[in-house]
Amino acid sequence: MKLIDSHCHVHFNAYRDDMDDVIRRTLDKGVFMITVGTQKDTSAAGLKVAEEYEGLWATVGLHPNHTVEQTFWDNDELAPEEQATPKIKTRSEDFDYDFYKQLASHPKCVGIGETGLDWYRIPEDADLEQVKEKQHRIVRAQFDLATEMNLPVVIHCRDAYEEQADLVKEYLDAGKLPAGGVVHCFTGTKEEAMRFVALGFYISFSGIVTFPARSKERNKDGLSPLQEAAQAVPLDHLLVETDSPYLTPEPHRGERNEPWHVVRVAEKIAELRGIPLQEVVDHTVVNTRKVFNI
Ligand SMILES: [Zn+2]
Ligand SMILES: [Zn+2]
Repeated sequence: MKLIDSHCHVHFNAYRDDMDDVIRRTLDKGVFMITVGTQKDTSAAGLKVAEEYEGLWATVGLHPNHTVEQTFWDNDELAPEEQATPKIKTRSEDFDYDFYKQLASHPKCVGIGETGLDWYRIPEDADLEQVKEKQHRIVRAQFDLATEMNLPVVIHCRDAYEEQADLVKEYLDAGKLPAGGVVHCFTGTKEEAMRFVALGFYISFSGIVTFPARSKERNKDGLSPLQEAAQAVPLDHLLVETDSPYLTPEPHRGERNEPWHVVRVAEKIAELRGIPLQEVVDHTVVNTRKVFNI
């Protein structure tokens, strides 16, 4: 085994026609996977797929984008006919603690999430305070479940790193979240990353780290703030992921992402840090095994 994609959605609709091929292709290349749930259907489905393969595990949880009615579609996630009614607002799911607890007791369930605060994708007509309050409530419920089940949390956070870190700290200070967690698809700054590291959390980088810095955010070495973060996070707190089918790394941008592309993320981090690829591979594999207890 060479690498672990610590966060993908290989059971989503984007792979409906060739999921088995994609998983086997990935395993053949020596890449293990953790496939992540985002609401009831995808959480249950991920476990079913994980049952079928060695080297594939799943997490269950309710993504913040699924906690509010939205007009954006994601046909990569569920087929149009599985969505409530195409072209109108998505369902908003509330967190059903007992339902997820049942799923979480599955032997192939290795974490709770993705869950977190996302202030980026909020519908324009929504009451902002109400949306934030609901997201907070639902994240707390999942942190409680992770505590009860002694599982790590997979945090999805956008434009809310400070509040997210405050919430993690509150739980840790109360002796909760004993298994810690991961901030997945990190897109913040070095300072924001180090705050989670100080709390004992892992930082997972996706293909975004391979994207060239935009001109206005470039530092003197031509790097983005995210790439600076990828240089700064200690090797023993570093994870890599694809978030497939999204966020295809360079040089494959524009194609559907597949979990074995995770090697591109590891290569980029090795290049940024000026260390051998193998060092990034070894550390991220050890870290992923440790946090997900696999
Ligand atoms: Zn996410
Ligand atoms: Zn994801």
